[in-house]
Order: sequence, then C-alpha cells, then structure tokens
Amino acid sequence: MSSTFVVQDGFASKQDRCVTRLLEFFGVGSRVGTTTDVMSGNCTGPGFDKSRVLCSAKAFLQLIENLEKLSDCKDQWVNRVHSAFVYPGDDASALQQLARLLGAVEMTPLSRSNDEDFSISNECDDFCGVMAGVKVNRPAVNSDGYLVSKANRNATQIISSRKGASFLKGEYHGVAVFLSTFSDVIDIDAELASQNFDIREHLFRAAPIVLYIKWAFHTCWNAPEANACLIIDDPLLRRRYGCVDFKRLLAAMEAHHFSTSIAFIPWNWRRSSAEIIRLFKENAENYSLSVHGCDHVRGEFGVSDRSRLYGKARRALERMSNHASDTGLQHDCVMVFPQGVFSKAGMSALKHTNFIAAVNNDVVSTDLEPVTIADVWKTAVMRYSGFPIFTRRYPWEGIENFAFDLLLGKPALIVIHHDYCSDGCDRLNGFIEELNRLKCPLRWRNLADVIRHSYRQRPLSSGSAEVEMYAKELLLENHTDQRVQYLVRRHESNPSDIKEIHSGSKNIPYECHEGFINFGVDLDAGESRLIRVVMHELTEVVPTKEKLSYRLRTMLRRYLCELRDNHITPARLRLVGSR
Ligand SMILES: [Zn+2]
Repeated sequence: MSSTFVVQDGFASKQDRCVTRLLEFFGVGSRVGTTTDVMSGNCTGPGFDKSRVLCSAKAFLQLIENLEKLSDCKDQWVNRVHSAFVYPGDDASALQQLARLLGAVEMTPLSRSNDEDFSISNECDDFCGVMAGVKVNRPAVNSDGYLVSKANRNATQIISSRKGASFLKGEYHGVAVFLSTFSDVIDIDAELASQNFDIREHLFRAAPIVLYIKWAFHTCWNAPEANACLIIDDPLLRRRYGCVDFKRLLAAMEAHHFSTSIAFIPWNWRRSSAEIIRLFKENAENYSLSVHGCDHVRGEFGVSDRSRLYGKARRALERMSNHASDTGLQHDCVMVFPQGVFSKAGMSALKHTNFIAAVNNDVVSTDLEPVTIADVWKTAVMRYSGFPIFTRRYPWEGIENFAFDLLLGKPALIVIHHDYCSDGCDRLNGFIEELNRLKCPLRWRNLADVIRHSYRQRPLSSGSAEVEMYAKELLLENHTDQRVQYLVRRHESNPSDIKEIHSGSKNIPYECHEGFINFGVDLDAGESRLIRVVMHELTEVVPTKEKLSYRLRTMLRRYLCELRDNHITPARLRLVGSR
C-alpha cells in the first residue's frame, strides 16, 4: 500500500485542492494530513511503501523544521519518505527559501511576455518519460512564476529555457524533492477554453505535477501501449489524389515506419481503382480505411435531428459494406466527422450503430456545451451519450502536444490533408521521424486497432487489475505470466441503451453503478480477448431517401471539391514553390 500525503497546515488552498483532484484523476488514493502525520509512523512497516509528499513550499519548510527536532531525523526521513513534490503556494519568501535550500542561487520572475522555448530535460529519462528531450514552443506564462537562473550542482533542471529553470529536482537529506516555481497548479475541472487541450498554454501548471505523478506512482492509471496512426481526410482510392501519390506514400511508410488510415467518403464507394484496392490489400499493415461522414456535405453531422443522423450513419455504413463486397477491401467502423463538425444528437445516433468510436480534432459539439480539461485528458472524451471521441491533431500543433497526449495515455493520431504531401512527403517524413524518436516506442496500427488497444489500466493486487474501457470494442491482452482477473468499467449514462456485452463469443453479465457499467473478464497468461459492447438499434422512423435536389447538390459539391484538390491546389502550390 502506498501512502500519499497532501500536506496542509490550516485551510486547503486552491492549489492543494487541484493537486488532490489530479491524484484522484490518475487513480492515486491520497490522504490530507498535517506535517506531523507524515513523520508520525502510522503508515510505515510491512505492506506500506514510503510516503510521497505533495505540499506547498511553506508546508514543506514546516515539515523539515519539525523533522530537525527529532534526534534521528535523517534516518526517519530517509526511511519514511520516497519523494516530495512542492508547489509555491502563496508565500513567495517560503519559495525563495526552499529553492535556496535545494541549490538555487538566483531567482527572477518569469516574464509574462515569454518568447523563449522551454525544453524538458533528457538527463533524467525515467522521470520525464515520453517528454524527455521535447522542446515546447514559447509556452504561455499566464500566472506568476520564477526562473531559477543559477543552480548549484546538486540541482537538476527539468523544465528550462536558456534563461533558467521553472521546475527542478533537488535533494533534502538524500530524498528527491521536485520543486515547481509556477504559482498555478492546473484545475482539470475548468472548462476547456479551446477545441483541444494545448500544452503550450499550460506547460508550467500541468507538466510538472503530471510528470511527478506518473513517475512516483506505479499503480496509477496507465496505458498498456502507445498507439499511433496517420489519418488523411477525403482521398478517393485512385493512383493520385491531389498531392497524395499512394505508391509514394507507401514507400514513405515503409522507410519511416508508420501507418495511414484514409478517411474515405462513403459517397465515393463506386469509384475506387482496382490498382489501388490491390495496393491497400497487399499492404494492410500500412494502409487502412475509416469512414468520413456520408456525403461530406457541410457540417452534415452537426444538425440536431437524431433520426436523420441515424439514417445518415447507417447509410454511410451500408455504402462502406457495399464497397467492401465489391472490392474485398475491409474498413474500420470509425467515424471521422467532415470539417470536424458534430452535434450531441449525432453522437447519440452513432452510438446505436456499428460504429465503435469517433475520431476528431475538436471536442466541443455544435450545441456548445462545456467540456472540461479532465474530459479531454481521458483516453477518449465520453461526455456525449458515452460514445467516445478520440482526439487527433495536426503536425503544426507541435511534437510537444503529441508527447503530452502520450504521457496522459492517449494515442498519437495525426491528421493531414493531401496538400501536406506537396513536397513529395519530405515534411511528413520529418515529422514522423520526430514522433518515432520520442522516448516511447509507438505501435503503428490501423485506426480500429489503435482504438481497440487504447484504454487505461492499473494493478489492484497480484493477479487482478482494473481497466477503463472507452470505445465500444476493447482488445484485452494479458502480457503477464499469470492468470489475471480484469475488472472492467466503462462510462454509460444510459445503461438501458445496452443490448449485450460480448467477451469473445460469450454474452457476459454486467452491473450498472453511478454512471458506469462494470464487468469481470479472466484471462490466462498470454491470452487476449475482444470485448464488445452492443447497443440496441433505434426504433425511431428513419428517412430513407433524400430529395433529388439534395442528391444533385451533393454530386456537384463532390466534383467541385475534387477539381479543387486535384488541379487548383496542386497548381497553386507549384506556383508558390517556383517563386
Ligand atoms: Zn473532409
């Protein structure tokens, strides 16, 4: 059992509350205690780990003042405390005093108009994990903070710019003390202010505490694997689409080790070339198909009529299965929304079809309901009827955002459009190489397999583990050498939507409790099993046919978009390139 103390003397500050909430988010049980509780000895002995202490600079100074009064203070400290994470609190002089004690010589305020890049150290790999060596492009300074501009040899700079460090590791009597000099700790229950979380906006308040929790608690929620896939929206399966040449892209995937899912517009189901279908089938490790809307008309999944969207989703799947039976090429039942636009009604409709998940850049629906930071820090956003959105990003959002997603346990899903390949894939290859250099081996798979492998897990005891499932399908794999009992939970706001749950070929029982469904799955060493949540179909009347005028407009729009992608954009890019 590990003992985690959030130390407070007096009332809990906002930072104390944010730290406690973060521990809870990562599945770490904690106790709020006083400085005397840490050294009181009621949490040591067989079965107990050493304590992890999280507190403000002032509380930490109080802790060591109490400690110094003990005769065998050094032994007690080393035997009882594993490490400490210290945040400034509202007492700047306590922060200065502690920083000096840990080896900081000079501290200057962190400028609000920061124009420096910051780097995560690669000198303490096991602490920084996937963030090791990552550069963060001009992170925002939106609260008070300090830079330790000189530090003696006993201190390691973990997050720093050329001018100094904002997060450092020191030691107190041989125990590691991590000190963040930024006054804010992230409040994950705050509303997300943009369409996806951006670590460049929150580096100083988010990265130190998350790095510490992931390092200090081996029993916190973790992703068993880091999965990745590149997604290209819109192409038809022809030899070339816009700047994408499928043979050239295959060569790039083979040379730089990655996989690509084409977000395919179902409307195009009769238009694939036999040559490219063969290329996809022969290279299923690299190429796969996902579903991009239905007709790809403007914001088609953003309206609020659920029956209509249910009809659209089913039509999309019907066209895709016609494509599969005509060509023999299978597809992933994963929805990529056209223009990233979706409504709550659209998510509810998709839940009742064979789609297993949606993938999108944006997480705020057209209904504009607030989404919290905690919602997007989960492996997938589950707040829309319990149908998951896995987030994806453009390369220009920076390697730092992909690394932070991976640190949280989210897959790396990269989106581009055809024009990103206008330089013969050089830019793409460079970006993929950067991703593959992260200190975390990426498993490049097709999109459905990325999603089936994306879940959170934490050990409960030897032989049992807890799993949080997100997509409607989960591939559970027991990589240990013993039988493991998995207790699986999945967010479900409306359990009566569920028809049945399959574990392999069997139906299994489940319980509903406080917005979650729970069930157990036992796997032998090395065994794996597909778990599927099957939802009831909707009984509402679905419009079957669209008006002729809509069909004509859709056709015109598709051909005009292709004209733009195949001729106008490449010509414009050639013109820009030749200047
Ligand atoms: Zn599109």
